Amino acid sequence: MKETVVSTMIINCIWCGNELAKETETKDHAFPRGLGGTLDENLWVPSCKDCQTKISHAETEVLTRSEFAIHRLAKNLKPRKPNVLASGLIEPKISLVKNPQIKKYIVVSFRLGETHPKTLPALEIDPKSGEGFIHAEKADDANRLLRSIKDELSKKPRENKLVFEMGTHLLQRLDQEVPADPDFHPRVYLSRRDRLYVCARDPEEALALMRNIVALEAAGTLRERDQGNWQTFEIPAKTSHKIVFVYKQEALKRVLLKIAYAITAAHLVREGQKPLDLPHITQAVIGTNAPGPDIRQALEANTEKLVAWTDCLVCVVAPIDERLLGIVGIYSSWFLVDLGSIKGAPQLSEPFGAKCKAVSKKKQRWLSKQEAKELLAICRRDIF
Ligand SMILES: [Zn+2]
Repeated sequence: MKETVVSTMIINCIWCGNELAKETETKDHAFPRGLGGTLDENLWVPSCKDCQTKISHAETEVLTRSEFAIHRLAKNLKPRKPNVLASGLIEPKISLVKNPQIKKYIVVSFRLGETHPKTLPALEIDPKSGEGFIHAEKADDANRLLRSIKDELSKKPRENKLVFEMGTHLLQRLDQEVPADPDFHPRVYLSRRDRLYVCARDPEEALALMRNIVALEAAGTLRERDQGNWQTFEIPAKTSHKIVFVYKQEALKRVLLKIAYAITAAHLVREGQKPLDLPHITQAVIGTNAPGPDIRQALEANTEKLVAWTDCLVCVVAPIDERLLGIVGIYSSWFLVDLGSIKGAPQLSEPFGAKCKAVSKKKQRWLSKQEAKELLAICRRDIF
């Protein structure tokens, strides 16, 4: 009788734990692909499509709306689908640029391969005086904004009495500095996808802004602009403009956790060990749990010594005082990530890590034991 040996290896999604069937299995990059990560050197973890979609939403938030979008622009990382407008678009939820000479904020979008930054058309209202300013690059843009506002205002109320709804970015929740700045005024702006958004400090200010706009429209002030009859603010070179990125910080925390945990899991597999069972971390990564206060951001001022690092991404993970700590460097910003208690995990006694160049043929590789030790020492001495 012939004996048949059937080898069945069950692979589970690293994030949700579900068994992976052929059709739902994907490889999740340890270093996010949009930041330059690849699949080589086994720097990936098995993941289901569902989890990957959830993680990619957080990654997109970080890659296109945070300050890291600027680094991508500088490194000339290509968008996934160059022909799709939204792909590779660097459109922070709101990226506010403050001109130091005129002390005005403008909303700016950045895009790969075009002449950007581009001032998004916006109607700014001084809450004290009720005075309005229009920011735009061309009269056409200003008129597009005005037409959009007038279109919304001319709609008949729906059954629920609402005339229209508009996305609102509340700075109070998203950013600390801008709301405290008396030079900031609330505004309505037109996104790259021709959608109107309100940008205000809090809900009261957003409502007051809308009341002011309705009043301006009623007074017949919101008229089409000719070439000379609108205001904009140029961004002259050689001035120290302040750029404020406003995006969901939670997304960044999830991406940092993902990098540190994925590299840990991939390292253990490489060593012939099972990945650690850290359910809280994996749930935080896919967004079903908040990441918690354990993730501390490095102080920018202390990162300068490592700015000369030529790799765009680096992660070193080390057991310290029975906790597993990850240090993640994205371009020149460094973060400390706490993966939690690892009591009784003797397989993790030495630091390990990997690094990745954004633009290079041999993009990413594991750090040698010596490199991981040295990097950890530098980070502990100079950053954390
Ligand atoms: Zn999953």
